Amino acid sequence: MRTRFRGITVREGLLAQGETGWVELSPFWDYDEVASRPWYDAAVADAVRPWPTPLRDTVPVNCTVPAVGPEAAQAIVRGGHGCRTAKVKVAEPGQTLTDDEARVAAVRDALGPGGAVRVDANGAWSVDEAYAALAVLDRAAGGLEYAEQPCPTVEELAALRRRTHVPIAADESIRRSEDPYRVAELEAADVAVLKVQPLGGVAACLEIAERIGLPVVVSSALETSVGIAAGVALAAALPDLPYACGLGTVSLLERDVVDEPLLPRGGALPVVRPGPSAAFLATEPDPDLAARWAVRLDELRAVPAVGR
Ligand SMILES: [Mg+2]
Repeated sequence: MRTRFRGITVREGLLAQGETGWVELSPFWDYDEVASRPWYDAAVADAVRPWPTPLRDTVPVNCTVPAVGPEAAQAIVRGGHGCRTAKVKVAEPGQTLTDDEARVAAVRDALGPGGAVRVDANGAWSVDEAYAALAVLDRAAGGLEYAEQPCPTVEELAALRRRTHVPIAADESIRRSEDPYRVAELEAADVAVLKVQPLGGVAACLEIAERIGLPVVVSSALETSVGIAAGVALAAALPDLPYACGLGTVSLLERDVVDEPLLPRGGALPVVRPGPSAAFLATEPDPDLAARWAVRLDELRAVPAVGR
């Protein structure tokens, strides 16, 4: 990682080649084998089942601004490959609402009035804290597009949504395939953030999107371009795509595995199915890393498949 993100500095995972193309299996290490099993199921499903027919050639994406200072935030937006939507990390441990406010205002300034600013608190706030913080940040942004996971639980999201006029998106509240329906049932969010790996693959996600009755934003799990392409395939197949997707994250990685990394052009990603480059395939993996993932793969296979 170029910057510490989601508490990690190194991103690890497996790539595999199936009948339909390459897939990525990269559950974070803080997910145990039961929580990681759907990630495995996703890789297997997408390795054998062709992706759905795309309804568009490109998918608009947001740029992501980590919890950096205002100047760095503006530099990220200006170097953001034409993205007209910025997602700003807020509520970082050790920082204050004043830091968030300055970052959000700087991002709005860099985007200009036409762009969209969303914030992501990763579930850090209580309902009261979120209500107060969103009032400040909504003002700093000149209107927030939405707030992603302001509070940790679905119940809190629902309570907050009844109080604030800022639209709410559920991200961490949607990790298992049954979660989106609970979010919809409790009217806890205006937007559902779906990630391909934790929800069992492209086809499984498309089914969720069709059934949930909420606008969907497809986001990455900080994959390489191989995994990002699966998210793009899902977004490209959705009947409606009202928001930019959170798939422009390859630039957060120091290196990628393909010849042409999936970096946005004109704020959008192309619908492609890339595999690792010849140079990457010729590189011997670090033996400790390979051993760690061989063990993990055995553990994942030993977990019963999640019923759907
Ligand atoms: Mg998020």
